[in-house]
Formats: sequence, C-alpha cells, structure tokens
Amino acid sequence: MRLYRDKRDFSHSPEPRARRGKSGKQPIFVIQKHAASTLHYDFRLQVGNVLKSWAVPKGPSTDPSEKRLAVQVEDHPFDYADFEGTIPRKEYGGGTVLVWDAGSYRNLKIDEEGKETMSMPEALRNGHVTVWLDGKKLRGAYSLTRFRVESGKAQWLLIKIDDNATPVL
Ligand code: MN
Repeated sequence: MRLYRDKRDFSHSPEPRARRGKSGKQPIFVIQKHAASTLHYDFRLQVGNVLKSWAVPKGPSTDPSEKRLAVQVEDHPFDYADFEGTIPRKEYGGGTVLVWDAGSYRNLKIDEEGKETMSMPEALRNGHVTVWLDGKKLRGAYSLTRFRVESGKAQWLLIKIDDNATPVL
C-alpha cells in the first residue's frame, strides 16, 4: 500500500486513499477500463485487504486459445474496486477509469470437497493462480501464470481455461 500512496498526490487525484478493506466471505474481482496514455484494462483480485493488480493491455479474452499479457502493478486498496473517474493527466496513471466488469471470485486450487489446497497468497507467490470469476461479463475459469520478471515488473499471462476440462463446483 505504501507504493500505491507514494505514487499519488491525493490533493490532485480523485482516487481513494488506502483504507482497510472488508473481509467478507467471497472475495471480489474487478476489471477497470483505463483510458490512460495507452488504453488498458486493470484486472484486480481481492486478497485479504488489498487488490492484487495487473494491467492487461488487450483486456481479458473469453477464448482459451488467446494468451493475454498481464503486467503486475502495485497492490491497490480495497476501496479502489468501485472507483470510476478521471485522474488528472499529470498524475500517475492519469486518464479515465470505468468499471468494465465486477463480481466475486473463487480460488480453484481446491480438492474434491471444495477445500482449498493452496491459498491465494501462496498461489501468487508460486506464480500460478486459477480462479473462477462470477462477473456480469466474464463467467468461468481463468488462469494467471507468471512467466518472467523484467525491470522489476512481473509479467503474467491471463488465459481463459476451457471450462469443460476444469473440475469446478
Ligand atoms: Mn491502469
């Protein structure tokens, strides 16, 4: 959260300051369409009190044969999930933000009884996350796989999992 705050001047940006997130039963995900100097989609997964975040230049695909680059960015505060608005151009991440899709998600690293076999923080550390998204636009299983770290930035691939081939509850 420190990095998030350090990058922003809240007297000039309408973005929320970090506050404590809610820890409801179902974690949430959000995808914000961000018309910055280059249009991209910010994919965020709630893990505890923060939103783990990736910038996805092309946005998510619903086609399992499409791999989408997702560059991990700093954790955002939970309150960012419903942020929409225009950030002044000179601020970090300037441009207009719209919620493109939102809903809850489930960690798919589970056994037959639905018990978690790997927590989200552990899956993130290991560089392989599989989740089921229950959004308005996106519904189904997605994977995020870290494939390299370049100049301190972790690059992941966001891929739709073929649902028929995925054991889900
Ligand atoms: Mn962004």
